[in-house]
Amino acid sequence: MEVNGGTHLINGLLTEKPLLPRVIEFVKASADAGHSVTRDKHKEDADDEPPKPQFYLFSRERLVSLFHESSPRRVGRGLRNLGNTCFFNSVLQVLTYTGPLQNLLLSKQHSRECISKREGTVCTLCLLESHAQEVFDIGKAPMKPTRLLSHMPQIASRFRAQGRQEDAHEFLIHFLDACHKSILKQATQQPVPRPVQQTSVICQLFGGFLRSQVLCLKCKYASNTFDPFMDISLEVSKASTLEKALDAFTTSEQLRGANKYQCKQCKQKVDATKRFSIHSSPPLLSFQLKRFDFSHGSRGKLQKNVKFPLSLNIAPYTSHRDREAKYNLYGLVVHCGQSAKSGHYVAFAKHNGNWFQFNDEAIRQVKEQQVLGQEACE
Ligand SMILES: [Zn+2]
Ligand SMILES: [Zn+2]
Repeated sequence: MEVNGGTHLINGLLTEKPLLPRVIEFVKASADAGHSVTRDKHKEDADDEPPKPQFYLFSRERLVSLFHESSPRRVGRGLRNLGNTCFFNSVLQVLTYTGPLQNLLLSKQHSRECISKREGTVCTLCLLESHAQEVFDIGKAPMKPTRLLSHMPQIASRFRAQGRQEDAHEFLIHFLDACHKSILKQATQQPVPRPVQQTSVICQLFGGFLRSQVLCLKCKYASNTFDPFMDISLEVSKASTLEKALDAFTTSEQLRGANKYQCKQCKQKVDATKRFSIHSSPPLLSFQLKRFDFSHGSRGKLQKNVKFPLSLNIAPYTSHRDREAKYNLYGLVVHCGQSAKSGHYVAFAKHNGNWFQFNDEAIRQVKEQQVLGQEACE
């Protein structure tokens, strides 16, 4: 949001779809416990922030340039299904039509500087870059994304077993993390300091910080913990809209009775409140609606309508509720089917101001209303 001065509408990535109650691999990869930063302050104030990076892996100037409009391109090629690969195709298509990422990939600025070829190593971002080049090699038949698929064991071993229906959200998180790690490997300073890790182009596009704040109701002592995120997973069992799910996610929890909080300032157990908030929001914000139920050993799916808007102001869910932060919907991945084990994934993405549906090799233009009505399909 800083990119556009915080007042403009910004693209938002809405991954409409669901998955594990907690993406454990993601937590390990990008938000492990050691990465949490706890700051204690007498009172909440504006300079209570996650640690600032000493330098940037991808400069802010280059980041801003990725948001410049590029000349319109025709919609690219469809992706053939190579045996239950619709989860993979859907995620890749949404990433390929993510404006600033598309600009990065088609400019080839990453591969020009990447040392992986010289060193003979696999770089996920280079693979994604050549995939995007192929997708926009217009006029050709739907393509087989074989190159990327064949590297899956190196990219994310979790997806080694090809031919199995996988979870699109889980794949998205693993894939972005693999791109991020490819960049970190090439940094001149090793190990890369923690705050600097958050400045890879992937983290600057998709990554933000969540704040967990415990507030002592007696002395107003606030204890803040910051955790990086690449997407936000929302419970939707009790929510009928994305906004209501965000409300529930950021609502204050009372710590009373047996749950009293040990206040460092009062030096005793006190009543307190605990609240999660989006502390710094990335230019591209991704939500996962948790529709799959893995409890009781089942892989059931929550079949219900969860409405989502074309434009969303996330200010009420942030640490700075008075600062407007608007996002525009530009893409979603939808799961159609009865359970996590079966079904089919399709993607929707906006391109040149029009919405398209990406159903493996088939691409068709659709109306905005069709995109908004997607819960019907599930
Ligand atoms: Zn590379
Ligand atoms: Zn206190």
